[in-house]
Amino acid sequence: MALFSFKILSKNKPRLPTIKKCHTCFAYLLIHAEVCDMCKRKVGKIDKYGRAQKPTDWMSYVRLLFMWCLFGLYMWWVFLQDNVWWVFLQDK
Ligand SMILES: [Zn+2]
Repeated sequence: MALFSFKILSKNKPRLPTIKKCHTCFAYLLIHAEVCDMCKRKVGKIDKYGRAQKPTDWMSYVRLLFMWCLFGLYMWWVFLQDNVWWVFLQDK
């Protein structure tokens, strides 16, 4: 009996996944794929649901920070500097 239950337990051991799904188009990919074959987006490691994780796009954060700095500089140039160019448009 003990040998029989051992056989059942060894037969039902969890297997390592060999495929994962793309996070965008849900296409099946190989486990080591880094780019989706269908939508050509980058895919990360597999999560617990069998889907590929979406890798963090750090360059988009850098671009966002740069654009906010540019916007702040523009706001300072238009409204906050000492000799604003539109002062002649105000009432005398
Ligand atoms: Zn895809």
